[in-house]
Amino acid sequence: MAILVLGGAGYIGSHTVYELIEAGRDVVVADNLLTGFKEAVHPKARFYQLDIRDRGALDTLFQAENIEGVIHFAASSQVGESMSNPLKYYDNNLYGTMVLLQSMVAHGVDKIVFSSTAATYGEPEQVPILETDRTQPTNCYGETKLSMEHMMNWVSKAHGLRYVALRYFNACGAHASGKIGEAHNPETHLIPLILQVPNGQREKISVFGDDYPTPDGTCIRDYIHVTDLAQAHILALDYLMKGGDNNVFNLGNGVGFSVNEVIEVARAVTGHPIPAEVSPRRAGDPAQLIASSEKAKSVLGWKPQYDDLNTIVSSAWNWHKAHPHGYEK
Ligand code: UDP
Repeated sequence: MAILVLGGAGYIGSHTVYELIEAGRDVVVADNLLTGFKEAVHPKARFYQLDIRDRGALDTLFQAENIEGVIHFAASSQVGESMSNPLKYYDNNLYGTMVLLQSMVAHGVDKIVFSSTAATYGEPEQVPILETDRTQPTNCYGETKLSMEHMMNWVSKAHGLRYVALRYFNACGAHASGKIGEAHNPETHLIPLILQVPNGQREKISVFGDDYPTPDGTCIRDYIHVTDLAQAHILALDYLMKGGDNNVFNLGNGVGFSVNEVIEVARAVTGHPIPAEVSPRRAGDPAQLIASSEKAKSVLGWKPQYDDLNTIVSSAWNWHKAHPHGYEK
């Protein structure tokens, strides 16, 4: 029996495939390679280039492979783009997931773990954020992810499928081997953008707003290493395989760092002065997002290994230094 990883050529997907293979699992990867990279797919995984909106291609895969569970990362994930092009997000994230669930139901595949996001909460009522807190997304990306959770819930009631939604906070870092890491085009995330400065690709980093109600005025986020996220997916799938019921878990370290603090850590790690310049706030950015991950720890037995920002940024720097253009030559 194999595990199907949709979006297994992307950032978090590729790291999860590495962990699955390391754990001795049989892995099938499917990805349309629009934002993922073939080079990121572990050589021991069987690879299908397909789009999850293509029902025929999914049916062919489920017929050819003996799939016991699905881990679903195949989605668009840029907040800014979701605001300027919301229908792309409805198409790829919601319609894509609908087609996937239709195919899974038709083939009797009844377990799925999938990427949700801290953006489902919107502006938090309190930090750390609990899974039971209000969900009121402030951007279309978060809205489609929350709708994916709801879709799973209704399909579960009707067809007996079981799911785990993992609400990630700020994914970052890279695999310890240095073989895979973060590569987005265009890059919008803070840590890779900061590291473009010591890599000679950017003169300075823009700090999006320094007038937030936080101690240094810059936004606070909970940064979680991609390998720790990957481990949580495996634990969540094992939880479903042992008969666990539908569930939602936050994944973060439970510690917040401000934008200025992250830049400071990057200066220490790289030995580069990394000039920073304050620029206007970015639309839709909550002041503070910090997870309570106690539920994932107690129910799944999840133990993040990289809870130190220095180690996280060092692993990212290790990757970006060696791959200044990501997977592109
Ligand atoms: N940020 C910034 N400058 C940048 C990119 C991001 O100040 O060039 C800030 C952003 O406003 C947010 C934090 O860094 O407060 C993390 O942003 P990122 O896009 O990495 O993740 P998000 O929190 O949006 O998921």
